[in-house]
Amino acid sequence: MFDFFRVLSVDKARERLFGAWKIASPGCDRVGLQEALGRVLAQDVISQDYVPPYSRSTVDGYAVMAKDTFGATQSLPAILQIVMDVPMGEIPTASLLPGQAARIPTGGALPQGADACVMIEHTETLDQHTVLLEKPVSPGENVVLRGEDISKHEALVESGRVLRPQDIGGLAALGVTEVAVWRKPKVAIVSTGDEIVPPWTQPALGQIRDINSYAIAAMARDFGAEPSIMGIAEDTYEDVRNLVEESLALADFVVLSGGSSVGTRDVAVRVLADLGPPGVLVHGVAVRPGKPVILAVCCGKPVFGLPGHPVSAMVAFQLFGKPAIEALHHGKIPEQFIDARLSRNISSASGRQDHIRVSLREQDGITWADPVLGKSGLIATMVKADGEIVIPTEKEGLMAGSLVRVRVF
Ligand code: AMP
Ligand code: MG
Repeated sequence: MFDFFRVLSVDKARERLFGAWKIASPGCDRVGLQEALGRVLAQDVISQDYVPPYSRSTVDGYAVMAKDTFGATQSLPAILQIVMDVPMGEIPTASLLPGQAARIPTGGALPQGADACVMIEHTETLDQHTVLLEKPVSPGENVVLRGEDISKHEALVESGRVLRPQDIGGLAALGVTEVAVWRKPKVAIVSTGDEIVPPWTQPALGQIRDINSYAIAAMARDFGAEPSIMGIAEDTYEDVRNLVEESLALADFVVLSGGSSVGTRDVAVRVLADLGPPGVLVHGVAVRPGKPVILAVCCGKPVFGLPGHPVSAMVAFQLFGKPAIEALHHGKIPEQFIDARLSRNISSASGRQDHIRVSLREQDGITWADPVLGKSGLIATMVKADGEIVIPTEKEGLMAGSLVRVRVF
């Protein structure tokens, strides 16, 4: 059916997946601001107010008419009459007239007529009713104008925004205490392999603890999904099929790891082919590590058969699981990149996308990326790495000293 040795490019593989998958809308949750961090907004938030609702001082000092201060210096100060104290938390009832000033605290509301504030450090009081200003201010100086922060009817954040701490602060400023967010996509995770045992057991000789269920679940959670660890299936058609079917019933998509290659014990591809339509869409992608990946759609939901080697599984989940989560919760998951210099040559076969783990090191003001070498079965290579660089398909390696873009883990 599939020629495993004629693999597809990452882009082509994604195209095939998204071409065959009719994405069901996940629906929304309403959450309070305390639960909103990292969730994907499912509504536009339009300001119903001016923030701040009144013009306010950013300094302790005097509210004035800026034109009264023009030309003021230490030797020739402007002399103004102090006519009021602005109380904190209230709007002053009286207005300023030319030649007048109002004592004002940081955050205090500007009286009518005032258009700037002078810092107390630049003033001297002559007596209780007279202040000398030793510096001019221009209109708007030391003042946040009404609506300067957020205007009325302004869209503060739009649907699809993955909410950050500052977004949540902005919502609080608008008095929006609850927002609609996309429901977290549900991801069911199955590990396969006769040799795989749960992490809390002491493995017998020949056994190995399940890394992938936990690493992939953590990635899924990081991407804003809700993972369920379904357990470990033996390398039999029945066992894998049962657990995949159980997973399909409760999740938006399913991730399988192990048994994705073409050996006699590799049953994933047969199970996923039988569970269609359309079943298996891609078997084998031109990426290293991660080549023996299966992309399938079964019962209308994506199923990813990831390679068993933990690094391969993580690379493949980044490439295919992340966009599936993004499609389901309608938000682009932000990534962080940093420019660095490569500390040594790296070769890469043309025709394949290479993912190189790197650790970052600062030396003499330069950020160096040191490749972390090691097989794709070694989870510690990921643990030691700070990020990865991707060598695109058409490139045959990178020279030491070249500038690289590191995706930070
Ligand atoms: P497979 O893709 O099933 O051929 O597995 C490739 C390698 O990954 C084998 O050495 C497996 O023992 C190992 N492996 C498979 N699944 C896991 C897992 N869940 N956790 C850790 N290692 C695994
Ligand atoms: Mg296996």
